[in-house]
Amino acid sequence: MKKKKQGLLIPFSSLKEGKHQFDYSIDAAFFEQYEQSLVHEAQIDVFVDFEKKRNLMEMDISFNGKIGSICDRCSDPFELEIDGEDYLIVKFGEEESIDEHIIYISDSAYELDLSDQVYQLVNLALPAKIEHEKEEDCDQEMIKKLQEYSISEEKEDKVDPRWEALNKLKNK
Ligand SMILES: [Zn+2]
Repeated sequence: MKKKKQGLLIPFSSLKEGKHQFDYSIDAAFFEQYEQSLVHEAQIDVFVDFEKKRNLMEMDISFNGKIGSICDRCSDPFELEIDGEDYLIVKFGEEESIDEHIIYISDSAYELDLSDQVYQLVNLALPAKIEHEKEEDCDQEMIKKLQEYSISEEKEDKVDPRWEALNKLKNK
């Protein structure tokens, strides 16, 4: 397996039972590891409240930061603030987990990589439409142009077929 460039590792085997805090920063290099990623530019802080218990581990994962994107409405580049949180329980064994909050790792594992969990968490936090929060924050000139463009496209679609034939003749 390819070694991850920016793994979010928790070296749990060397930790004492009890609570531990882990902080990470992820950016474009992290998301580059995922070919399908919708996120490219990013600056996100990840916080993990980790608790090691006798035979399992529990953690609350939260993050906040911003991603660089293009506004769906006006096509202007802008920064979108995002945050989110989730919890995860890690158990030992070979079982297949049916609960998204529970993962199983091998008895011989000594560290945990939270990369995939955090990647999913950030993706779930993305709004369906990535755009400026308020329409007045958008590039108004661009919106006007886009509207004009879509109206003229509509008009073209609705040309009477007879006129269309005539136009073709004229253009010859
Ligand atoms: Zn916009």
